[in-house]
Amino acid sequence: MKVDLHTHTNASDGALSPMELLQAAADEDVELLSITDHDTLAAYESLELPAGITLVTGIELSAEWAGRTIHIVGLDVDPDSAAALDAVDHQQRARRERARCIAERLGKHGLQLDLGAVLARANGASIGRPHFAAELVENGSVRDFRTAFRKYLGAGKPGDVKTEWPALETVVQWIRDAGGKAVLAHPAKYRMTRTKLRCLAEDFVDAGGEAIEIVCGPQHGDVLGQLSDLARAFGLTASIGSDFHAPAAWSRPGVDTAVPSDLTPVWATW
Ligand code: AMP
Ligand code: MN
Ligand code: MN
Ligand code: MN
Repeated sequence: MKVDLHTHTNASDGALSPMELLQAAADEDVELLSITDHDTLAAYESLELPAGITLVTGIELSAEWAGRTIHIVGLDVDPDSAAALDAVDHQQRARRERARCIAERLGKHGLQLDLGAVLARANGASIGRPHFAAELVENGSVRDFRTAFRKYLGAGKPGDVKTEWPALETVVQWIRDAGGKAVLAHPAKYRMTRTKLRCLAEDFVDAGGEAIEIVCGPQHGDVLGQLSDLARAFGLTASIGSDFHAPAAWSRPGVDTAVPSDLTPVWATW
């Protein structure tokens, strides 16, 4: 069975509309899907499900832990709950403020960048660095999207504005209060040592986190094995997703990898 519990639409930094994503997922025979846009639930406002797909509500929330930005996916949250509305409101303010700050910093670095144009590009979506990257490509400041991140927006670059995202504990609590399950997103992408990752997993469990992504997009080596061990060590259930943002030959919704039989899938009780 194909499952995908981590995908993006143009309600945040994805390329497809929510309905286009649902269709793309249906075309890939995905049976269980969650749309997990960055810090917004707007994709869920008007959806008609294609036959064969079960949709679970989701969101990818930005959080701070030990001075780093980490992502927590909330699955099966009630979008109308006070906690969900609070979380989205808080994160949207933070993102707008951060966008102003990114524009200012890039301006100081001599880049021609009109915040209004970036906001227009986002068109009401949850604003993030990818919208800046696209604008820098469009206005000729950089050759391509990758270069925009490599030179200006990636970790440690001027546009990597350290917003004070809410603490891991706050974010996990929002998800729990909204009736959902908190999932530690793409642990392998934080470039942490094993020891650091175990510290994160421990704090995440203490905060009430329940699941961990053992698959998130293409993975090499034994990442699946290592993350499965982390799930076992901390009694976490397993989630899998593509982190799909835009269609490409190597990027489609849906994950084929099976969850190891001794682990419980996060969706087991749905
Ligand atoms: P933000 O939510 O504003 O912090 O932006 C993070 C998003 O930017 C991620 O979810 C990715 O979609 C994208 N992203 C982050 N780093 C890179 C990179 N090096 N190259 C391309 N896209 C990236
Ligand atoms: Mn993204
Ligand atoms: Mn993420
Ligand atoms: Mn994501």
